[in-house]
Amino acid sequence: MRMILVGPPGAGKGTQAARLLDRFKIPHISTGDMLRAAVKSGTPLGVEAAGYMNRGALVPDEVVIGMAIERISQPDASSGFMLDGFPRTRPQAEALEAALVDAGIKLDAVILIQVDDSLIIERITGRRTDPETGAIYHMTFSPPPADVVDRLVQRKDDTEEACAARLVKYHSDTAPIIPFYESRALLTRVDGLGSPDEVTKRMIDAIEGLS
Ligand code: AMP
Repeated sequence: MRMILVGPPGAGKGTQAARLLDRFKIPHISTGDMLRAAVKSGTPLGVEAAGYMNRGALVPDEVVIGMAIERISQPDASSGFMLDGFPRTRPQAEALEAALVDAGIKLDAVILIQVDDSLIIERITGRRTDPETGAIYHMTFSPPPADVVDRLVQRKDDTEEACAARLVKYHSDTAPIIPFYESRALLTRVDGLGSPDEVTKRMIDAIEGLS
């Protein structure tokens, strides 16, 4: 199964991808996670990406495309992958399509997790991550256990200001990939409202309904 998760920032792509891993046994490939790891370890790519990420801008296509395509050509992704946060622009979608055609590989599905803009800021500013386990919580909607609260961190781009910038970018740069995949009959829409469990169930129903 080769899948792409699309949706606005805070739609729950990372949370849902982590929950679907066990079920579908394919690697979760998040360009955001890869870029954060590069920033943390101070690689040249990380140094270049950090400024864009912190202000909620997109990292340039030429940086991200090579990184993502190299990753999906790794052996662990040979029989499937779940891409999260890539492609995020029309040129990225076109580059991915060309790379998959070259490799003789077909995409199975693009799942769009839909959440209204009015809910996004609240979802994102309450988000915290456990640096030890990678688990994602929300201080109101998915509260962390008491013994991990003190070590949780907030992403630098989860401030209200950066979040507003990311939403603008989502509509201007990422939303155009929706008709791109719709025209290829690959797009499935899933309602992202409700508890993580409810959304996971909808995602599984949608994905299993495809085959
Ligand atoms: P995410 O974890 O997917 O929300 O990504 C965090 C940030 O990393 C984004 O706001 C962008 O600055 C950057 N980023 C992640 N994936 C991409 C991508 N495909 N294209 C451009 N920038 C990206």
